[in-house]
Amino acid sequence: MNAVGALFHLIFCFRALPRLWLLLLLGSFAATAAVELDTQLEQQLEQYLVQANKDENLAGKFLFSLEKDVSALTPINSRVRFYVYKVSEQRRLKDHKGAAQTLTLLQELAQSSQDPDVLAEINAEMLVQYWDQADFAKAITFLEPTLIYAAQATQSRVRYYAFNIVANFQTWQGKYDQALESYHSAYDAIEKDENPRTPFRRMNLALRMANLQSSLKNFVKSNQMMEQSLPVALQNPDLEAFLPDIYIQLGFNLVELEDLEAAAKANLEALKWAKKRNLVFAETTALNNLGDIAMRQRKLPEARQYFEQCLKFGIEQKDKNTENMARFNLGYVQVLEGKFDDGLNVMQSIIDLSKESGAPAETMDYLTEMADAYQLAGLYQQEAKTLREHAALAKDIFKAESERQINQLQEEFSAKEKSKEIAGLKQQNQLKAVEIERQKLQQDVTLLIGIVIILAAVLLYLLYRKVQTANQRLKEANDQLAYQSLRDPLTGLYNRRSFQEQMEKRQRQVERRQLAALTTDGFILLDVDFFKHVNDHFGHAAGDAVLVEIANRLSSLTRNDDMVLRWGGEEFLILLRRVDIKALAAFTQRVLDTIGNKAVHFGEHQIRVTASAGFLTYPFASLNEQSMGWAKALQLADMALYLGKVHGRNRAYGLVQLNKPYTDIATQLETDLSQAIEQGNVDVMLVEGPQKTTADSSF
Ligand code: GH3
Ligand code: MG
Ligand code: MG
Repeated sequence: MNAVGALFHLIFCFRALPRLWLLLLLGSFAATAAVELDTQLEQQLEQYLVQANKDENLAGKFLFSLEKDVSALTPINSRVRFYVYKVSEQRRLKDHKGAAQTLTLLQELAQSSQDPDVLAEINAEMLVQYWDQADFAKAITFLEPTLIYAAQATQSRVRYYAFNIVANFQTWQGKYDQALESYHSAYDAIEKDENPRTPFRRMNLALRMANLQSSLKNFVKSNQMMEQSLPVALQNPDLEAFLPDIYIQLGFNLVELEDLEAAAKANLEALKWAKKRNLVFAETTALNNLGDIAMRQRKLPEARQYFEQCLKFGIEQKDKNTENMARFNLGYVQVLEGKFDDGLNVMQSIIDLSKESGAPAETMDYLTEMADAYQLAGLYQQEAKTLREHAALAKDIFKAESERQINQLQEEFSAKEKSKEIAGLKQQNQLKAVEIERQKLQQDVTLLIGIVIILAAVLLYLLYRKVQTANQRLKEANDQLAYQSLRDPLTGLYNRRSFQEQMEKRQRQVERRQLAALTTDGFILLDVDFFKHVNDHFGHAAGDAVLVEIANRLSSLTRNDDMVLRWGGEEFLILLRRVDIKALAAFTQRVLDTIGNKAVHFGEHQIRVTASAGFLTYPFASLNEQSMGWAKALQLADMALYLGKVHGRNRAYGLVQLNKPYTDIATQLETDLSQAIEQGNVDVMLVEGPQKTTADSSF
């Protein structure tokens, strides 16, 4: 038998996080030497906490006024502490946008920091925020980091705060063992702290731990803790506010340990202190518990009295739950008094109300008591029906609870998966970064190779150009050399050597039968008359000028495939292509005329010269070239030229034909041409040069 509500010491329920409770967690710790802090700001934040317990609005204003002193230069631990308080203030003022901004800022700070204090405080704060917004899946993701960093944190304030939040969350999850461990860690964190608020905090932790022990059905352990805390709370006026809760917890444990007398005493103490501190909720709980104990002891008038006080409170406070609970318990008292119909009706009506309001846990408690009441009234069918209803509801609740736990497991699993995914992504990013680095390196190398290739190509090209230029120069030099070796430097005419080559070429053509058998060329060998005198008279330079002029005049007479050569000093040789003796004679006439007709200008001098020549066709007189080579032919031409000289100069003799076999007269021809002519062995023809005019200075 049990009165409904006796178990409801809601003071220990953490469904939502009361702000005062948060304030209890924050602040008031000695700074640890290892962490750099802004001591002034830290002191002001302590002040804020003290103020917040008295006047929240004033404290809030004070906190916001501190922001102007917070900058990037503020040590990060103090900065984080400030912003954590700021979020708390912004949420109090329902400035959700501002709170979200501050949270973003905190997350940025967390990302840029490796400091476990910073990370523990921020992760704990994130956990609180999402928990408060009922986003449990997100909240859970911050649980493990908070635990890890809290264990590494050096500031007792941070360790205490973070472990406390973790413990509360674990309690909410129903993980009582883990929660207890976390509370112990929080307790250890403040063990060495000595400041005005430390006892307050220790007491708070002790209560939470005792409550957890009681949830784990360790009633003796729970009581031991409360009995240790009791003298501390009694000695310190600041801790008086804890006394009702301590006594209620003690009373609860004592009921479970079936020491009803002691339980009643404890609740009376709770009632006394609750009244003194004007803690309405604790007062109601104590009254309800006292009523329950009295019922168990069958002290019905006493029980009625307690429940009536509860009812009064419920009505006064407009607290429907308390009111209904009191009415239900009063109904139960009526049943115990034997007023079955009235009592059962009242109880049933409260159950109906509870069902309507949709609080199955509460309805279940009512149903248990209701079944007992039906049994007392001897209404076994109703008792059975109520128990079935209870069982069905229990099944529903169990199902809902299982689902909740499954969901929670799912969320934890997803959180773990997510962190794995994040780790995977991080690894991927790292790999990607390495890959990008590798690609960049490859690009650089490629670029470098490209540059080297281009440079090499440029160098090669330059070298190639240089070689080309050198080759060109060489070619030019060679050409020059070739030109020079084949040309006469003074007149630019071909020289003896080139004639020799020409004749050898001709010889080869003949051998290959490329030249028509009947084609003859012509040789004219020239010698300037009295040239020594020109030199003597006008100087060597004038002589040179005359030679150049004659060369030009001869060149302009001839065709492209003809050749004009400087045979020696003032001797010239003309090779005419494809001519007979007649044409050759006519050409020789023009040669003598072009030299002798016009004086050569040199300075103020007009130098007139004539020339003598000998000519013949080649091959000569049907003799093949083996019988009479070009050298022999030229020798004959020279003889003819000599004939010109001796017969008065400015004339040419041409050999026309032989009247005897060449071999017979060869020696005569080469030594005494005049005799050969006289004997009729050879026919010659004469070409005379231009007439001299008296005005001419000629030689
Ligand atoms: P001729 O032939 O009518 O009997 O009389 P010549 O005075 O021309 O006789 P010769 O052949 O003995 O003289 C040729 C002269 O030409 C000798 C030489 O000084 C001169 N001579 C040869 N080569 C050059 C030259 O390149 N430049 C100049 N200025 N004189 C040259
Ligand atoms: Mg001569
Ligand atoms: Mg001469």
